[in-house]
Amino acid sequence: MSDCVFCKIIAGELPADVSFEDDKVVVFASIDPKAKTHLLIVPRKHIRTIAEMEEGDEILVGHMVKIGKEVAAKLGLKGYKLNFNVGEGGGQEVFHIHLHLLS
Ligand code: AMP
Repeated sequence: MSDCVFCKIIAGELPADVSFEDDKVVVFASIDPKAKTHLLIVPRKHIRTIAEMEEGDEILVGHMVKIGKEVAAKLGLKGYKLNFNVGEGGGQEVFHIHLHLLS
């Protein structure tokens, strides 16, 4: 999506503090951290919101959760939150799904 900030980060067109990437996801620091550790696990595939997931996307979303727990383990985090904000009413501001890792 040409006007999507996360698609631009994934394409290398905008800078970000990337800490992990694979063929399905990119992990980078939130530009406005709400905790000491605040990372975003972002799929390369542009999906607007969790509410608009299509059949088969659950595999990708499961992979995002797996990467979240692996990154948390690598960082030695004892406890953390993994959360999706869904839709404007759910506090979503960037309409490209992302899993917040907060600790
Ligand atoms: P949400 O409210 O769930 O859509 O969360 C959006 C997240 O993206 C927030 O943590 C923002 O600080 C973060 N964010 C927005 N723009 C950028 C950017 N250019 N680079 C890194 N994080 C960003």
